Amino acid sequence: MTRRRTSLVLAGGAAGCLALTLGGQAAAAPTAQVHGPKPVTNKLPKVPVMVGGGGAVSTVDAVASQVGIDVLKAGGNAADAAVATAAALGVTEPYSTGIGGGGFFVFYDASTGRVQTIDGRETAPKSFDQNVFREPDGTPMSFTKAVNSGLSVGVPGTPATWALAARKFGTMPFGDLMKPAETIARRGFVVDQTFHDQTVANAARFSAFPETARVFLPGGSAPAVGSVFRNPDMARAYRELRTHGVQSLYDGRLGRAVVAEARDPHTAAGISVPLGQITMADLRDYRALPKAPIHSVYRGLDVYGMPVPSSGGIAVAEILNLLEAFDHRTGAPLKDVSNAQYLHRFSEASALAFADRNRYVGDVPGVPVGELTSQAFANERACLFSPTTALPRPVPFGSPDGSYETCGPTATTSRLPNDGQSTSHLVVTDKWGNAVSYTLTIEQTGGSGITVPGWGFLLNNELTDFDFAPLQPGVPDPNLPASGKRPRSSMSPTVVLDHGHLRLVVGSPGGATIITTVSQVLTEYLDRGLPLVDAIAAPRLSSRNGPEQAEPALLASPDAAVLRSMGHVLVETPEIGAATAIRVLGPDRFEAAAETVRRGGGSAMVVRPR
Ligand code: GLU
Repeated sequence: MTRRRTSLVLAGGAAGCLALTLGGQAAAAPTAQVHGPKPVTNKLPKVPVMVGGGGAVSTVDAVASQVGIDVLKAGGNAADAAVATAAALGVTEPYSTGIGGGGFFVFYDASTGRVQTIDGRETAPKSFDQNVFREPDGTPMSFTKAVNSGLSVGVPGTPATWALAARKFGTMPFGDLMKPAETIARRGFVVDQTFHDQTVANAARFSAFPETARVFLPGGSAPAVGSVFRNPDMARAYRELRTHGVQSLYDGRLGRAVVAEARDPHTAAGISVPLGQITMADLRDYRALPKAPIHSVYRGLDVYGMPVPSSGGIAVAEILNLLEAFDHRTGAPLKDVSNAQYLHRFSEASALAFADRNRYVGDVPGVPVGELTSQAFANERACLFSPTTALPRPVPFGSPDGSYETCGPTATTSRLPNDGQSTSHLVVTDKWGNAVSYTLTIEQTGGSGITVPGWGFLLNNELTDFDFAPLQPGVPDPNLPASGKRPRSSMSPTVVLDHGHLRLVVGSPGGATIITTVSQVLTEYLDRGLPLVDAIAAPRLSSRNGPEQAEPALLASPDAAVLRSMGHVLVETPEIGAATAIRVLGPDRFEAAAETVRRGGGSAMVVRPR
């Protein structure tokens, strides 16, 4: 990796040159009369696929992708661009990501061939115990009550992740990487349909928190499509991070504001919510943690993902191992079977992997990671598989004990994890061949609904990712709340290498559906031979050991009837995930890809399109 220290010259560079010059299918210009400074928009067109050199960026948002491209152009590497892009997403996608949340950062260093990760997951306060999300009579708290509360707010990990990524992998000063986001927050961006719709969908719960209503429902309603949305308070928060560093959040005035609001949120008259428990001591103790990635081999390629407390890397590895095991059992490789048979195998593999994930994976000591991701374990699990009939759900979890002879089912857990549509995934590659795959979130769309007064960003509700009560009486549950613990995640930022060379980076939002979305994109591309952008666009199926979620296009296809005849229970879900990916075409030549339709379409860019 190149470790030059460069500075982003902001007056004429990066954010400063994000101008209102649009071409092709660029973002819509504001329709309303614009007062105040000119909003920040993208220079490159907003398209779902772009090919070229100099590095590549793919995100859900064109203004954020453009920030990454500008950082790469200014001499930054993939880590620099990823941090600046993530900060920009905090402005333009404030209901999905931002200063008040957490995430998982995967970095591929081309000079060493090493993949490293940062665990930036939120932590529970020290005061937490396993009963914290239960009512006094012992019943689990309603999910909605827990979401819209201070109690669900974990210590934010995102600023610490950015600082660590910039220091460990980047080449530019951290403060410079905050500057484009600050500029976008101050000058504003043009509201698109997705931002408008997300605001409308959250208007009722935002109204419960006057500060959130003031910032995100200006004048009492959602900003109109085509209008300019500015967030001067958030600009102030980014300036604070830029000038005082992230210690302002972990041991300074930004942190004090977060703690005060989480512990006693301002609410509208007549509304009370559960109070938060995080303290300044919890913030001071927070660390973003460098961790070794999960590694598995699929079709001879090295697949790297996120370790515990995310279940993403483990579950994706198990799904892929199971698919290889099904190939061997049937003698028919995935690439040669019908589309319905492909979906059947994918669904069965996902259900089995989720049974194991729910039983064994959480932020606890002794998770049998090596066994869960081993081909031998998958081979044993695959003996439940039938090519003609779906296993009844819930399928039993397996025994990852190192001794693999029988199917060895023990028992089942039945609860389905939540599957929000919040979160954002970004991918970056640079001209040196480094890459980042980074998923970040505030959990639900709109997080806890609580905005930090005067600082313009929403606090996460990540602690609702804990199981409020054991999934099954008598079966250990690794994901119960506990002091200082990180809730289990499904985030699956993924890097694929081919004999030590970068081949693909991919990831998605979507709560627990992230795991199935990433696995589906990988297999649609690697096995089914779809171009990357089509692999992303393909109709999705998410099977997680219960009824299977299917998008309308899949239900409308002939495959749905075949799947139902095999016993699959399909439930319509309008949209699953919002993936982004980049594949390497050759030395300094990339194809960036994003959604064509979901979430209004994503934004794939390269530095030098050709
Ligand atoms: N909290 C979820 C997780 O960590 C992500 C939220 C979402 O994508 O909606 O798995």
